[in-house]
Amino acid sequence: MSIGSGRRPGRVAVIGVGVLGASVAWNLSRQGADVVLIDARRPGEGVTNWSFAWVNASNKTVRKSYFDLNVAGMAAHRELATAIGPDSWWYPSGHLRWADDPAGATQLLERAELLANWGYRVEVLTAAEARRLEPALVMPGEVPVVLYPDEAWVHGRHLVGRLVGQAVAAGAGLRPGCAVCDIGTGSDGGVRTVVLSDGTRLDVDIVVNAAGPSASEVAALVARQLPMRREPGVVTRVGCVQVPIDRVMHAPRIEIRPDGDASVVLHSREIDALIDAGEEVSELARMLHELARNVVPALGDSHIAETRVAHRPIPADGFPSVGAVPSVPGYYEAVSHSGITLGPVIGRLLAAEIVSGKRDAMLADFRPERFAMPTGGR
Ligand SMILES: Cc1cc2nc3c(=O)[nH]c(=O)nc-3n(C[C@H](O)[C@H](O)[C@H](O)COP(=O)(O)OP(=O)(O)OC[C@H]3O[C@@H](n4cnc5c(N)ncnc54)[C@H](O)[C@@H]3O)c2cc1C
Repeated sequence: MSIGSGRRPGRVAVIGVGVLGASVAWNLSRQGADVVLIDARRPGEGVTNWSFAWVNASNKTVRKSYFDLNVAGMAAHRELATAIGPDSWWYPSGHLRWADDPAGATQLLERAELLANWGYRVEVLTAAEARRLEPALVMPGEVPVVLYPDEAWVHGRHLVGRLVGQAVAAGAGLRPGCAVCDIGTGSDGGVRTVVLSDGTRLDVDIVVNAAGPSASEVAALVARQLPMRREPGVVTRVGCVQVPIDRVMHAPRIEIRPDGDASVVLHSREIDALIDAGEEVSELARMLHELARNVVPALGDSHIAETRVAHRPIPADGFPSVGAVPSVPGYYEAVSHSGITLGPVIGRLLAAEIVSGKRDAMLADFRPERFAMPTGGR
């Protein structure tokens, strides 16, 4: 069922208020839909707050349609910044990446060439040119450095706060601190109610599953199997008197970005690989901090402020699951890794689908139906 399918306008429950749920709800509420946002905790404090939050398509070349969706995600961020104002969440300062071994450098330059052929803006700098942009960096003298000038980073929690504030001002309801623990369906299998952990039962016509890493549990409430990968990552926030870098960057072993005026965020795939080996979280944080100080010595007197292991919300084949599930009328999914990059575009496309009933071709490869319902589902 969709609002535009000829039936009375429906009430939409958005389950999960991270970047994806907030983006869907913001788009729906500005089109006059009756929306209620429900979150088990506080909006924006899920994986959205523990993300490296790099807005990019340069790391998404695995499939052209996925790359195109991420390019559309970058454009949607720029439009959103105009619509809601950029302050405190949108940092379009570009992205630097370099490698310190010949094989890595070759790979970097091949990727840059592919992206340039796809019309993506990329510049190849010398190390000296890169250091003029980022004087605090230590990097080998002769390495090529790639600058992607249209990439950015986002403060996820602040973005969610802004979107939720505007949705509520436009009339949306907000239920923080309430988990959805059941979804009731009618005799046609369509969505009718959601039941919250405080015992409230809400009559709804549509639910959007935007529960991030818990999306398969919410899908199970309508007897749907949404297979997800297990892919944890560890992120550390480091406090410093003055932030010594201006942009998001990938050094060979560590990823670093600013996080406002007095902190820096650190992440590394190499350190993520130690999570399941049972390493203490405090030790993972210490290693991240050490790797970062090797690249940015000015972080020498910074301190580890907070660290969290978070789970990437990744459907099993690695791609987003977005749109209606026709076998459960009224049930929609908005589940994706790279959700910081994709939130605004997924929010816009899914809200349009809910309101008009029309399916956008851009989502053709990312439809929930590719994960079939088990036989006997309700
Ligand atoms: C280490 C790491 C690095 C990353 N780096 C990047 C990056 O550089 N760029 C990028 O684009 N993406 C990145 N991502 C991915 C990105 O952070 C996520 O795709 C995105 O934040 C997902 O947002 P979400 O709204 O789906 O989930 P969340 O922010 O987790 O929101 C889901 C919400 O649902 C709520 N919820 C769950 N179950 C229920 C229920 N039953 N009832 C009510 N509420 C419920 C939760 O409380 C939560 O608030 C990274 C992720 C990780 C872990």
